[in-house]
Amino acid sequence: MRKLEEVLRDWEAVIGLEIHAELTTLNTKMFCGCKLEFGAAPNTHTCPVCLGLPGALPVPNRAAIESIVLAGLATNCDIEKHSMFYRKNYMYPDMAKNFQTTQGPVAFCMRGHLDLDVDGPAAGERIDLDGVAVGESRGNVTRTEDGYVAHVGITRIHMEEDAGKMVHLGGGEGRIAGATHSLVDYNRAGTPLIELVTEPDLRTPEEARLFMQKLRQIYLAIGISDCSMEEGSLRCDGNVSLRRRGTTGLGTKTELKNMNSFKNLHDGLAYEICRQAEVLEEGGVIYQETRHWDPSAKRTIVMRVKETADDYRLFPEPDLAPYDLTDEFIEGVRAKLPELPHEKAARYAEAYGLSAYDARHLVEHRATAAFFDEAMAQAAGDAARLAKPLANLVINDATGYVNTHDGSDGAPSGFDGVFARLTPARALELVGLVAEDAISSKQAKEVFAAVIADDADPAAIVEARGMRQVSDTGAIEAVVDEVLAANPDKVEQYRGGKTGLIGFFVGQCMKAMKGQGNPKVINELLEQKLG
Ligand code: ADP
Ligand code: ZN
Ligand code: MG
Repeated sequence: MRKLEEVLRDWEAVIGLEIHAELTTLNTKMFCGCKLEFGAAPNTHTCPVCLGLPGALPVPNRAAIESIVLAGLATNCDIEKHSMFYRKNYMYPDMAKNFQTTQGPVAFCMRGHLDLDVDGPAAGERIDLDGVAVGESRGNVTRTEDGYVAHVGITRIHMEEDAGKMVHLGGGEGRIAGATHSLVDYNRAGTPLIELVTEPDLRTPEEARLFMQKLRQIYLAIGISDCSMEEGSLRCDGNVSLRRRGTTGLGTKTELKNMNSFKNLHDGLAYEICRQAEVLEEGGVIYQETRHWDPSAKRTIVMRVKETADDYRLFPEPDLAPYDLTDEFIEGVRAKLPELPHEKAARYAEAYGLSAYDARHLVEHRATAAFFDEAMAQAAGDAARLAKPLANLVINDATGYVNTHDGSDGAPSGFDGVFARLTPARALELVGLVAEDAISSKQAKEVFAAVIADDADPAAIVEARGMRQVSDTGAIEAVVDEVLAANPDKVEQYRGGKTGLIGFFVGQCMKAMKGQGNPKVINELLEQKLG
């Protein structure tokens, strides 16, 4: 098989995503009052409605409707005031009703979009932007300084319910193949799910990954789901087809399942693009089928040939009245819309002059953005001056710490653990000490580690460890004079052109000052006296 970058020179990939999110932050199920709880004893959260017993009548969960409307508003969708629930009929033991309640042609949310900022190496997979100037558009993308913005259409977000969970016993690794018997847990049956479907507007695996990441950040920010890809509360299917560069028709697509991490989504699509290219180049045809991405074997395998919509005999759910949303309801939800991550990032860049890179990393986690916001509020008049070093502290030191500590040694872990010790006030104190030259940025790393380990204030640590950097020109000048007097030969050589000796002189001064001299002042004085 050829490499992705080669394949993409001849073929254009067309990708659309279907993304399911469980509304895990709700208290109860979609059409009954059963509790939503992950990991409860099997079949303890069930009732006649979610078990599909004859005569049981569903009642829609208003909080779930609020969540989907919130998701729609956050992704620029039109909110449909009149929509209906439908029955999607199929028989499988995890679905006791023999149908899934879902939505029909009109969903609560229609016609939305997200704009993706693609830059750096991620922009490299898009190879058709040669000759497009910055600010100019081609198709759904607009060129930027270091990449491009892709406008990705969202077809719809509809409401549906999850099925129960099957447990297969007696076989290998919990799989159905080889199992001697299977159990079913209906606790998950009836969990509210929202499914977002994109237009086939994505063109590279990187764009697919970025879309998924951006959507996850939005869902987390609006608080409708815990979005755990490992636990399956956020799931993604990737649809992909190829067409020859320069043509506009749509090829036959395959659908990839099991994309339970950003990496799997990217790598699965990349593999599938290369596989399809090989089939087509050898004169073969692509069948519309569902395939499974196996990350360890690094290939996709056929799961099933696609059933057509008719097989499901979709029809309006007779037990639920058409759903009408009032303007008051929609506006009430709109009022709950928080500042979204990309809006926050734009504000950071605008208000504090942070780079797009820094701003984007700050909003990557809700905890880092909240911490930064709180610190900036406390910094008041110093906010603009301290924003950049504070961003560095959060992005480099705090995030670095979180990524390398799992709490197994009893030390704090996670952003909650780190920020409980660092606190916005201490973070400001720490970057303030560097800004006023009391300590060097290298010393600041040591102080940061001590703040987390000892739960102490930066200034107290600096005092206790005698770290305060000497910036007093008089004191430094005396040391500089001593060092120059002790090394007349080197002074000669320096003046003769060996300016690289500056490092030697700085080192000697630092040594004399036990590492506490302000390197900037030392350098300045040395250059003055040697010049
Ligand atoms: P299906 O009926 O097979 O579920 P849909 O039309 O509902 O297909 O589309 C499902 C997803 O696949 C959407 O995200 C859509 O954008 C995408 N899609 C549709 N046709 C293609 C295609 N030819 N190539 C790639 N993606 C496609
Ligand atoms: Zn129930
Ligand atoms: Mg479909």
